Amino acid sequence: MPHPVAWVPAEQVRHASTAAKSKGSDYPTGTEVKTLCGLNVIAVNSDVAWLWPTCANCYTAAREKTNSAR
Ligand SMILES: [Zn+2]
Repeated sequence: MPHPVAWVPAEQVRHASTAAKSKGSDYPTGTEVKTLCGLNVIAVNSDVAWLWPTCANCYTAAREKTNSAR
């Protein structure tokens, strides 16, 4: 089973989401994604974006989802 949570860099922060992806393993730049912390953000899929700091609320939510999926 694939990992249920994906990371979505947006607005200088890496959020997490369980939203379905249209293709591939990432959200293409410009995709509107609902994050685990409750925001609607526009994904930025660039090399630098993956170095942005992790959203603390999304990290907590992602960890809970990952644990419950086992
Ligand atoms: Zn977040």
